[in-house]
Amino acid sequence: AAYTSDVVIVGAGGAGLTAAIEAANNGASVILLEKMPMEGGNTLISGGEYAAPGNWLQKEEGIEDSKDTFYEDILKGGDYENDPELVRILADNALESAEWLRDEVNVTFEDYLLFFGGHSVKRSLVPKDASGVELIGKLTKKAQEVGVITHLNTTAKELIVENDKVVAVKAEFDGKEITYNANNGVILATGGFGSNLEMRVKYNPEMNEKILSTNSVGSTGDGITMAENVGAELVDMQYIQTYPTCDPELGTLLYVGDVRMEGRSILVNKEGKRFVEELERRDVISKAVVEQTGGVSYMFWDEASMKASGVNVKHKREYDYLIENGILVKADTIEEAAAFFDIDAKELKKTVEKYNEYAKNGKDEEFNKRGTLTAFTDGPYYIMKSKPAIHHTMGGIKINKDANVIDTEGNVIKGLFAAGEVTGDIHGTNRLGSDAIADITVFGRIAGRNAAKAE
Ligand code: ADP
Repeated sequence: AAYTSDVVIVGAGGAGLTAAIEAANNGASVILLEKMPMEGGNTLISGGEYAAPGNWLQKEEGIEDSKDTFYEDILKGGDYENDPELVRILADNALESAEWLRDEVNVTFEDYLLFFGGHSVKRSLVPKDASGVELIGKLTKKAQEVGVITHLNTTAKELIVENDKVVAVKAEFDGKEITYNANNGVILATGGFGSNLEMRVKYNPEMNEKILSTNSVGSTGDGITMAENVGAELVDMQYIQTYPTCDPELGTLLYVGDVRMEGRSILVNKEGKRFVEELERRDVISKAVVEQTGGVSYMFWDEASMKASGVNVKHKREYDYLIENGILVKADTIEEAAAFFDIDAKELKKTVEKYNEYAKNGKDEEFNKRGTLTAFTDGPYYIMKSKPAIHHTMGGIKINKDANVIDTEGNVIKGLFAAGEVTGDIHGTNRLGSDAIADITVFGRIAGRNAAKAE
């Protein structure tokens, strides 16, 4: 069987759906292929937070921010291994694309911001219910409205090149081969390769089977392989990020832990001591956790912080699950909470007292924690056990600022575009929290527009 459209997009996560909407908005007929039975990918299971410098909530809160500050934060967070030209595009367009999500795609954002690690100011917007479900739900609806045709359970296998141009995608549905011809262009938006053990270890032997993963099972790097097979350059493949505070048994992201991004929890080890700045970069915290007893950390907070963050209400299902499975404990005293995990209670009490002192003086003498420090007051107290798990693959296909795929000789591959986690060089060695949603939205839109116009 065969289908033909102006633009064929592979992968219906955040980047693919965004690209599909913009391609359709620019007059193209669009077919979107997704190998899973539903849209969403890693975007769906993410918190959906979006770093947007100069956004409307920052203005209300009197937080000063700029495109340049964001640009510098992304570069610094990635150890300046990023492509500055791509970072510039991301930083300059992040706010406008957040407004596009809000105004054109009807995404509802909550009325508070989160402070993600490594950013110099609080700038991350939070979609309704702090969940990627809001983003994917609204993007899917919009895509339907603008006439995008989505084929689910359809796995792209190969790109077809004719006269130096990518002209089609070979895919498989129900064991049968289908060819999708693209009049104008193909966009790869297949996400990362965090769920592909073989590929992970090939590029970074430390990311072996012992490390759990937060990723969707669909994140197997298919787009990277397909692009490589037609000559694309791959960049930064060795940079694989772990998220520092995941379920110690399953590896899933723990949203109850977002109390940390409200600046209202500390991380301690079995010895009851802090060991890292809680709002540091993910790679720095992860590395520090691995060095602690048992390779785990314990997040501590009090009732006032629970109330202020509301993570037990926003993420009630997860909260109940964590309590039932002994991953989170709620106790009236610090001693009792510590005893549950066999943490040195005396030291933990000392740690809390010291932290409260820092909060009073407005300065964390040990780790220089950024943001506002809030003292822990009364119980009940909470402790959550967690460990790092694979979260984001920074490396991938090399693109230029127009989302064209670049080959190993530095030339544009005609008819081929890429956007989202499948691409590399935007986040350098380490992506900062909430930069991925900005990335997939900004570059998804660029890829969609340009593929629609390609010849
Ligand atoms: P991004 O954040 O870059 O949008 P996601 O992980 O959210 O990345 O989305 C990528 C999507 O691509 C997932 O839904 C995944 O199942 C899909 N996908 C991956 N490989 C293929 C493939 N070979 N064919 C079709 N869809 C694919």
